[in-house]
Formats: sequence, C-alpha cells, structure tokens
Amino acid sequence: MNVKLDERYDLYINGTWVPASDGRVFTTTNPATGEKLAECAEATKEDVDAAVQAAWAAFPAWRDLEPDKRADILLKIADVIDENKELLATIESMDNGKPIRETMTIDVPYSSDHFRYFAGAIRTEEGTASVLKDHVGHFMNIILHEPIGVVGQIVPWNFPFLMAAWKLAPALAAGDCIVFKPSSTTSLSVLTLVKLIGHLLPPGVLNVVTGGGGRAGQYMLDHPGFRKLAFTGSTEVGLDVAKAAADKLIPSTLELGGKSANIFFEDCDWDRALDGLQLGILFNQGQVCCAGSRVFVQESIYDKFVEAAVKAFNQVNVGDPLDPNTQMGSQVDQGQLKKIMSYVELAKEEGATIACGGEPCKEGACANGAFMKPTLIVNANNSMRVAQEEIFGPVAVVIKFKDEQEVIDMANDSVYGLGGAVWTRDINRAFRVAQGVRTGRMWVNTYNQIPSGAPFGGYKESGIGRETHKIMLEHYT
Ligand code: NAD
Repeated sequence: MNVKLDERYDLYINGTWVPASDGRVFTTTNPATGEKLAECAEATKEDVDAAVQAAWAAFPAWRDLEPDKRADILLKIADVIDENKELLATIESMDNGKPIRETMTIDVPYSSDHFRYFAGAIRTEEGTASVLKDHVGHFMNIILHEPIGVVGQIVPWNFPFLMAAWKLAPALAAGDCIVFKPSSTTSLSVLTLVKLIGHLLPPGVLNVVTGGGGRAGQYMLDHPGFRKLAFTGSTEVGLDVAKAAADKLIPSTLELGGKSANIFFEDCDWDRALDGLQLGILFNQGQVCCAGSRVFVQESIYDKFVEAAVKAFNQVNVGDPLDPNTQMGSQVDQGQLKKIMSYVELAKEEGATIACGGEPCKEGACANGAFMKPTLIVNANNSMRVAQEEIFGPVAVVIKFKDEQEVIDMANDSVYGLGGAVWTRDINRAFRVAQGVRTGRMWVNTYNQIPSGAPFGGYKESGIGRETHKIMLEHYT
C-alpha cells in the first residue's frame, strides 16, 4: 500500500489537534531506510497540563455513561481499526521497521480484538452485595467498581500500536479519561488511529501528547493531576514511574523488561521446537519484552539442536519490512543496533562463541537500515552478562542443562520473570517446570501467544500488575 503521511502531526488535546505551545517539533524516521517520515509536536509542560485538565473536564460525563454505551464506542473503534488495517499496518512497519506480515496478522488485528474483548468485559462487570450483622443489627454491604479518574499512560516503541490498544481499551471501558504518550521513536500509528477514531469519543476523554521521555514523559510523571500511572517500557524508567506514583500516593502498573527462559527437553517435538525457538527470539526482531532470549537445551540433544538452529537462522529472510515475504525487518534504530552489537562483542569477551549471525545485515534492501542478522551465542553459561541482561534483539544465548531441577534453578536465576516456555511431550513434566519457573507467563509447546483473554505481566523486576484479560479492569477501577 502506498501511504501518504502528513508532514506534521500535532498533539490531540480536548478533541482538537494543536501544535506544541512553543511550536517545537521532533523528527521521526524510517529505520529501514534512514529517511525522514514526518515531524511530531514536542509537548511542553503547559500542553501536558492542558491535556490533564481536558481529561478531568470530560471525566464526569464519561464515568456516568452507561457501560453498554461505552462498549458500543469500543466496538466502533474496533471496526474502524479493521477497516483501516492495511493503512495502520503499513504505517507501523514504516515507523518501527517490523515486517508487514507481522503488523497485518498480529499488531493490528490483535488490537481491534482488544477493543472488542473489553467492550464485552465491561458489560459483565458487576459489584457484590452481602448481608452483614454487627451489634446494631443487619445491614447490606454493597461493593461497586468505580472508575479511577484521569490516568496517565506511557508506552514503548516495540509494539507501538498493540501496546496502545492494551492500555487504551481497558481504561476507556472502565470509564477513565486518558492522557497517553507514545514513544517519540514510533508515534505515527497511534496518531493515525486517533485521526480515525477521535470523533467517536467525547472531547477530552482521550488526549495524546507526543515527545521525548525526558520531556513529555517526565512532565507526566511530575504532574499532580493523575490518579494512576500505567507504564510499559524498561525496568530503569519503570522505577522512576513507581517513585513518581509513590510521591503522589497513586497506584501504578508496570510492564517492564525480561530475559525469559525457552526450555527444550530431549523429548520435544523437533520441528515445532525449532519453530518455537525462532518465534521466541526472532519475532519483532527480538524486540519483545517476553522474548525467549535464554535458550536452555538438554545436553543429549544440544549439538543436534544447535546445528539445526544455525541452519534455520541462516535461512531467515531479513529485508524490506514492506515486502510480504520478509520474515525479519529492521531494528527500531541505529542506536538499538549498536546496543545489540555491543552485546555480541561482550559475548566474545566473556568466552562464548557466535554460532551464526553476530553482525549487521547490509546486503540489498538492508543497505541503509538498522538490520541485524539472527544470532546464536553458544558455549555460554547462565552467569554471563549476555545471559542475564536484556539485549532486545534477535540474539539468543544457548545454554546446556542436565535435568529438570537444574534447568528450573537456572531459569529462576534471573532478576526478571516475564515469559518463558517449556517444550516436552511429557505433560507432567510440562506442568512441573511451568510451575517451577517464577515467571508471569509460561507457555507449553508454544511461544509468544498473546490472546486478549489471558493475563500478561511480570514477577520480580519485570513489573507489577497485569495487562490484557478482564483482570485489567480492576487496575482501572
Ligand atoms: P523506555 O523505558 O526507554 O521508554 C518507554 C516509554 O517511556 C517511552 O514512551 C519513553 O519516551 C518514556 N520515557 C522514557 N524516559 C522517561 C521518563 N524519564 N519519564 C517518563 N517517561 C519516560 O523503553 P523502550 O526502550 O521504549 O522499550 C523497550 C523496553 O520496554 C524493554 O525493556 C522491554 O522489555 C519493555 N517492554 C515491556 C513490555 C511488557 O509488557 N512487560 C512490553 C513491551 C516492552
């Protein structure tokens, strides 16, 4: 699809598009080509304040709108997303570098499904009533779920559209009003969405401020007007969000980093396992919070597994994100590529071996972009920094294990606990290992499945609270 982007994208405050109060803009580029895509407004403190005020002004009417009416609006938003699937998917691929075959089948359709899911979920929301007795007599106790008020939501660049849907749908369903900030690296898909759906919502219910983390993001953390902060991003910034929320005595939910264990036992289904390895670490160029970046392989199949994995990784089609045959696109920017390469160097310094990849891809359509070859680090152990720190690229560290207990111990030897998987034909072992690993989500014989109806979130430094699933409504009421 040939997409004509606007030259400049403004802030969306109180149902109106406005430039930053000081007129400042920043540039957003296509990481696959290095070309400029558009300019976006760099929100000031005054802009954030105007957005918070607009949200509070809209809150009483939005809170009081019957849940079925709010649900109708969410359903309309879902329809608009589906009707504009190709447009949104193309913009997401251009702005982020992810392949169109993923944005068309995952990012965009999973987002519309999210709005539909919460349109349904809010209609099932009920309070409770109970009859209690004390020294005065009997009385009835009624518990109702009430919307929190104005919430501040901040998301990262790795799934700009999907993370927006994960945040917006439950908050809108619950009756909250929102000030939302996308990553300055990838603001275009959510701004396009708001251009398409803005008229469906009363002015002020949803406000979007764009800008850098140290500017618009920090102004949001500093603003006294929020009743909740919801954040997805790095553990480092997540800590700042938690502190800012604590200073205001308001709740925060935090979806942070990970270094998840993808565990392969000798009895695994071989073909599915190799697919699962790739799905775990190559999906979205490995820029996935729950990526299967620590790969544990039982020693009896280790050599055979590495040999087959190298062959599979070398066959991955890295190239133009807009080509439907491309399996892996560009990393989000040159900075991210540089960070990934620094971990490749570190792996060598730590005594591990690069079995394949280990360098940027520069051939053909990749010449001017931030492309990385699928990479396997072998001869590694779990205490190496490359096995403990989040690389956020298509780089898996492969580690040998002997038995069940050893792999559970190694999987748990991490500051993170977000995702993970176990591959085995033994159902008892699958459950033992899944329960033994201290992580928010453990897949069995699959990876990176993220349906709306299953809760997602982390243990330990991977975060607090959950996303997706109707459990989310509790975070917004
Ligand atoms: P990041 O923490 O650098 O930025 C995330 C967002 O926070 C961006 O919008 C950014 O502008 C903003 N921000 C940065 N500094 C800020 C500040 N001082 N105050 C307020 N806002 C600020 O993360 P990133 O590099 O964009 O994304 C990658 C990270 O996100 C990885 O660690 C990844 O694991 C994590 N992530 C987690 C999940 C999850 O569900 N657990 C999902 C996706 C990504």
